[in-house]
Amino acid sequence: MNDDPPPHSQAHPHPLSADRLDRYARHIVLPEIGGAGQAALARSHVMLVGLGGIGAPALQYLAGAGIGQLTLVDDDKVSASNLQRQTIYTVRDIGHGKAVSARRWLANFDDRLGVTIHDTRITADNVGAMVSGADLVLDGTDNFATRLAVSDACTTARVPLLSAAVGRFQGQVGAFAGHLPDQPCYRCFVGDAFDAEDCDTCAEDGVLGAMVGWVGTFAAMQAVRILVSGTGGMGDSGWGKLHLMDGLKPGMRTLNIAKDPACRGCGAISV
Ligand SMILES: [Zn+2]
Repeated sequence: MNDDPPPHSQAHPHPLSADRLDRYARHIVLPEIGGAGQAALARSHVMLVGLGGIGAPALQYLAGAGIGQLTLVDDDKVSASNLQRQTIYTVRDIGHGKAVSARRWLANFDDRLGVTIHDTRITADNVGAMVSGADLVLDGTDNFATRLAVSDACTTARVPLLSAAVGRFQGQVGAFAGHLPDQPCYRCFVGDAFDAEDCDTCAEDGVLGAMVGWVGTFAAMQAVRILVSGTGGMGDSGWGKLHLMDGLKPGMRTLNIAKDPACRGCGAISV
């Protein structure tokens, strides 16, 4: 199976140099990833919204996976209480912007990856321009107004969305492609009641560091699944599936989200 790369990889000549092949050797020997999958990751552009407890470990695994282009969005500053779970920051980053600090972490980790940062708060007005051009958006922010604005922008721009969240010991990661005629968007799941909830008070709840790490790294794995889906490896993209993670049990279960034909975000998307 490894000897027969899919036609996809021939359409895109192998862009990986010898040192990159060495760096990703443990991916490339996986039949589910292989050279074609690794090349697909290197061509990919992922936008990460929120560089907190979910976004920080997700960034580490996305960068580790060799995602070629990353757009990082967060307007917050690093505080001491972030360090319990936001794994890319150290005491030296306290008081500095998360987006700038994340870019510094990335430059130290792998300066061959492209990075764009937005040190601004996402609004319904500015998010469309940020999402445009991405292959996938991973949203790990903690307020509904932002999450819904990101979802609507993704649907409009026809960009898939991974939405990840944690409340205490409950986590969720869903994959949405609301621009497709038979697939739900994030708004189909939560409805319209939360557009005004532009508050970060969830951040005041307690949360176990490793719990958000579980959700963030699971979201990164789902991102890889989606990005290599064109080369066949890890199965389908899992659109419309919401994975619920219970840290106390511990356990996971999966729900299928239905498309809402009357959805304000994706209901008008035509076949
Ligand atoms: Zn929808």
